[in-house]
Amino acid sequence: MEEKKNILAFLKHLQLLGFQFIPLQRQNSDERERELEKLRLEVLQCKACPLHKTRKKPVVGEGNPRAILVFIGEAPGAEEDEQGRPFVGKAGELLTKIIKAMGLERKEVYITNVLKCRPPGNRNPRPEEIKACWPFLERQIEIIKPKLICTLGTFATQTFLGTQQKITFQRGSFKEWRGIKVLPTFHPAFLLRNPQYKRLAWEDIKKLMVEFQKLKGQGV
Ligand code: URA
Repeated sequence: MEEKKNILAFLKHLQLLGFQFIPLQRQNSDERERELEKLRLEVLQCKACPLHKTRKKPVVGEGNPRAILVFIGEAPGAEEDEQGRPFVGKAGELLTKIIKAMGLERKEVYITNVLKCRPPGNRNPRPEEIKACWPFLERQIEIIKPKLICTLGTFATQTFLGTQQKITFQRGSFKEWRGIKVLPTFHPAFLLRNPQYKRLAWEDIKKLMVEFQKLKGQGV
């Protein structure tokens, strides 16, 4: 009771000093971290599809719990499976370069995948695996509340936008998913195999940069 009175007196004092609100950002961020940690523990125990039998480490995602921008890839590869971290192999090096070229660091954005476990031999994700894993990705987005999503490659784009179209037809223009702007672009692994597409990918990334700076300028 005494403590409550003290807090009220302190708040009144702040009001007299001209404060109209107290930013609760830090607490908010901690809450997101807690939620993401809870989700991580659930992924570690997940047996919703057979991939849990062959994976070494699940790859949940990493980055800023308050990221404005989230990158979504397809599924962990061999290196990611070893380390339990997203995009740390060759494709990851290119994604890191892209993020740096945007004037950002990996820790400022959030990076995750449609599938949290590696498909054996890096085969394509199967529809039933995507379906089983989707609730985790959906919750990550709900927790982080980004303003921008960049889907990398066909699978992430099709999963988000519910389309069957290939990335070539989807890339480079903003779509919308539950009020969030989504920009599909090529997957970095595809760009490593087909460097002639890097120029187009850069056009997409420039659009992403403009939108990111706009949102950052608005203080979101
Ligand atoms: N490719 C992906 O789609 N995700 C990773 O994490 C690594 C490679």
